[in-house]
Amino acid sequence: MSFDFDLYVIGGGSGGVRAARWSALAGAKVGLCEEYRYGGTSEIRGCVPKKLMVFASSFSEIAEDAEGFGWSSSTRTFDWPAFIAKKDTEIDRLEEIYASNLQKAGVEIERARGTLKDPHTVALSNGRTITARHILIATGVRPFCPDLPGIEHAITSNEVFHLADMPKRTLIVGGGYIACEFAGIMNGLGSAVTQFYRGAQILRGFDDEVRGHIAEEMRKKSIDLHVGRDVVSIEKTETGLTVTCTDGSMREVDCVLYATGRQPNAAGLGLAELGVGLAQNGAVKVDAYSQTAVPSIYAVGDVTDRVNLTPVAIREGMAFAETVFKSNPTPVDHALIPTAVFTQPEIGTVGLTQEEARETHEIEVYRATFRPMFHAFAGRDQRMLMKLIVDKPSQRVLGVHIVGPAAGEMIQMVGIAVKMGATKADFDRTVAVHPTAAEELVTMRDPVPG
Ligand code: NDP
Repeated sequence: MSFDFDLYVIGGGSGGVRAARWSALAGAKVGLCEEYRYGGTSEIRGCVPKKLMVFASSFSEIAEDAEGFGWSSSTRTFDWPAFIAKKDTEIDRLEEIYASNLQKAGVEIERARGTLKDPHTVALSNGRTITARHILIATGVRPFCPDLPGIEHAITSNEVFHLADMPKRTLIVGGGYIACEFAGIMNGLGSAVTQFYRGAQILRGFDDEVRGHIAEEMRKKSIDLHVGRDVVSIEKTETGLTVTCTDGSMREVDCVLYATGRQPNAAGLGLAELGVGLAQNGAVKVDAYSQTAVPSIYAVGDVTDRVNLTPVAIREGMAFAETVFKSNPTPVDHALIPTAVFTQPEIGTVGLTQEEARETHEIEVYRATFRPMFHAFAGRDQRMLMKLIVDKPSQRVLGVHIVGPAAGEMIQMVGIAVKMGATKADFDRTVAVHPTAAEELVTMRDPVPG
């Protein structure tokens, strides 16, 4: 049977674009449809604009710290509309690069929504029907908000990048990556930030000490963080938004930002009808090679809800192309993925948390907490935390957790050592780089007692 394409990709985010390009470069005839913008969440309304906002928000503190180094103070104001316009121009530039890289690789692209008609046929919202030997679902996720009175007045991470003005008072709901990152961003930009998290401590799943440390540092920066508290309702008034809380209290803010998780974009694509397995949360079920229960249909990225990170989606896209178009079956290695949370200060983490490790290993924990030289001199009360979780019998480093400036940059490098199976002795025999904060990673002599 002949098909229009060897591969048709639905979704032009990080995973879909990488799979399309690598498959085309391997000689496949590839098409891709995207209903919104090329680049997906990460480039358009996620990691990239978020990191630009983290940079923008960090200058208020840098300016304060500069005074500690002898610089004289000056009036500082932030021009939100000017920043947003410049950020939009940059995102437009990056989107053009995404589209042109696809075209340069020979991928035929369409600005349209695709739905499946049968295991080899995609119907596009522009009326075109396409047949393909293989179909790849790379449709990502979208923000989820709980259903409560007045939720229509709240925004999500999709809208926060396009607000016309900076809210003077912001309530952030949630305790995950996005909530904690935006608490720091909005606080740094000058908004009065309150954060509500329903559980006992933010960043569930991270090392407990890391969670406690970052919560304390966020509070020191004037983020009004409340755990064990949630929203009951939101009411729009003449002066703002009145939020009723689970403890019965009320507060008025200008903006409520919900960051309460994300849902797979898998409904309405015709997947279930064709026999593609879907998990309870709607994620597409795949095997180690990203293949679904229907052999011609594959899925990569957040829509499969494996490890929802941009570089993982990219890896899954590359492994798909390797498997299907290079005759080199390649499962994706989801073990020991280093990751950063761009809170202020940052978190960098790889491997097991202390809580996870002690379930399965006899462990030693090495810990350093200190005031980085920069902050000590500037007079800022900010502490850094570093932890090594070590398997006592083999001395292999099972996990590394860092909270502090440049933790994201450090963990990328540490991740190589941990992935290679480095032992505590390997860390110890590496000469320190002085004077840095990172040198503490190779100079922790004694395990924490007990
Ligand atoms: P997360 O899953 O990280 O966090 C969701 C938060 O919302 C949790 O604190 C959760 O609480 C809370 N929550 C869930 N449902 C409700 C509800 N009904 N009412 C109140 N609170 C609720 O999701 P995010 O949206 O922050 O991020 C999505 C994904 O994006 C992450 O998993 C991450 O992989 C990725 N990401 C990565 C970044 C990075 O690498 N730096 C940055 C941003 C996102 P509970 O813990 O109790 O379930």
